[in-house]
Amino acid sequence: MKTIGILGGMSAASTQTYYRELCNLTREQLGGLHSPELLIRSLDFANIEALQMAGDWDAAGKVLNAEAIALERGGAELLVLATNTMHKLAEPTMRDVSIPLIHIADATAQAIVAAKLTSPGLMATAFTMEQSFYLDRLTDAGLNALVPNDKDRAETHRIIYDELCKDITTTESEAAYIAIAERLVEAGADCLILGCTEVGMLLNESNVSVPVFDTTLIHCATALEQALENT
Ligand code: GLU
Repeated sequence: MKTIGILGGMSAASTQTYYRELCNLTREQLGGLHSPELLIRSLDFANIEALQMAGDWDAAGKVLNAEAIALERGGAELLVLATNTMHKLAEPTMRDVSIPLIHIADATAQAIVAAKLTSPGLMATAFTMEQSFYLDRLTDAGLNALVPNDKDRAETHRIIYDELCKDITTTESEAAYIAIAERLVEAGADCLILGCTEVGMLLNESNVSVPVFDTTLIHCATALEQALENT
């Protein structure tokens, strides 16, 4: 089994889900006492969020690049950047890194295409919903993604940073997310991408009326598949 390097802490709430999910999947697939070979680097999200808010993406790219290099030096053979938003910096992150990056948007797009769905609604941070770095990859995969309206995008983003990244879940926010998801379905979405690694704390197949693609779970499954390839 190859060692998976997780560049996480963005936020710590979702990195916990990555660890749990990778452990569960490995146990399910290999049985016995098996557990995944992992190197987890969990950053202080306050520093990363400050760079996001300042729009200092160059500095953020340098931080992620240094961490990716350190993970490779430490023995990681695959890299998982455990946040959708920071895939905006996938290219600078991987500068001078030779292990492969498992791109969260590509893994998700492939899962949707395999399910023969075409029009995912996307709930994510404003960066992910409004900039091209993520939507373009969905389009390249032949998907026609829908994003929430202005007000719903602002509320989706606010709940991620004010609550989910602090490990806070409330019934009010769950209801707000369910309503936003349903408005995307009314607008024509045939499935829903949980396009932020914390959104699965509030939404899943049981409270959304269309198939749900949770990027965190898909990312973990794809990483493990690649870690177990040819072993
Ligand atoms: N985990 C989040 C994501 O998947 C948001 C936090 C961040 O900006 O990295 O986009």
